[in-house]
Amino acid sequence: MAFKIIEGCVNCWACLPLCPSEAIREALPHFMIDARACTECEGDFADPQCASICPIEGVILDGLGVPVNPPGSLTGIPPDRWAEIRTQIQAR
Ligand code: SF4
Ligand code: SF4
Repeated sequence: MAFKIIEGCVNCWACLPLCPSEAIREALPHFMIDARACTECEGDFADPQCASICPIEGVILDGLGVPVNPPGSLTGIPPDRWAEIRTQIQAR
């Protein structure tokens, strides 16, 4: 199985040089992972390097399609609280 980058990736380049399999490709509208090359870092690292460095929540999915850094995991802000705050800001 392989990891996948989805919409929301900001093309920041942080993950690309860390991949031990050279599976991450620069692309538009966002970077992508070559599924044939991704090893999920097995045998190289205990943690998937792309997901460990990625600063954006929810944009890297594991082989089962589950976000590795789900919403709230990096910021510590629960998704429903974040939606509430955004609504308040937009109402100003
Ligand atoms: S999980 Fe590991 S091998 Fe797969 S793209 Fe991410 S860094 Fe590369
Ligand atoms: S680290 Fe995350 S946001 Fe940056 S290029 Fe990689 S997947 Fe995209």
